Amino acid sequence: MTRRESLKFFLAAGIWTVLKGRLNAAQPASMKDIENLQKNWKTLLADGVKVPLPSEPLKLSKEEWRKRLDAAQFNVLREEGTERPGSSPLNAEKRPGVFVCLGCNLPLFTSEMKYESGTGWPSFFTTIPGVFGTSTDYKLILPRTEYHCIRCGGHHGHVFDDGPPPTGKRWCNNGVALRFIPRDGGKA
Ligand SMILES: [Zn+2]
Repeated sequence: MTRRESLKFFLAAGIWTVLKGRLNAAQPASMKDIENLQKNWKTLLADGVKVPLPSEPLKLSKEEWRKRLDAAQFNVLREEGTERPGSSPLNAEKRPGVFVCLGCNLPLFTSEMKYESGTGWPSFFTTIPGVFGTSTDYKLILPRTEYHCIRCGGHHGHVFDDGPPPTGKRWCNNGVALRFIPRDGGKA
């Protein structure tokens, strides 16, 4: 190899290593990787941020929720509404961090669990463990699995079986029901 050729070779190898790292980070290959994402979710939580536990229930009356939430948040979280696809700024959120329940601050997903589903709703292939309860709804005639925050009961979205491997799950979440806490500071 000439010097020029070897320079090209090392550049290409370097770019490949970076790309491969990105691909690996974005796409866990095995259920072991998924377990690790779930186990290590706190590494994505910003320093000094206090968050509640799933075992500390938050119960408020309908009127109290109305005061605490704006109309769009109330419609999704307390009335099982669905936001217009593409309407949430969180669709484009790609920074490292944690997505918490807008109703009660319970951490639900990390940035490493998010993927681009192309649906117009923030989508995740797995969740922080033990943070959701599920029920079956028939609003669109065909049964769908609704999921809600285990702490405050707020509705978040539906989970489908057309997500990417290895989980095959698509947690289709209303962005208006989430708050993003960037790990490295900056605008939430
Ligand atoms: Zn909640």
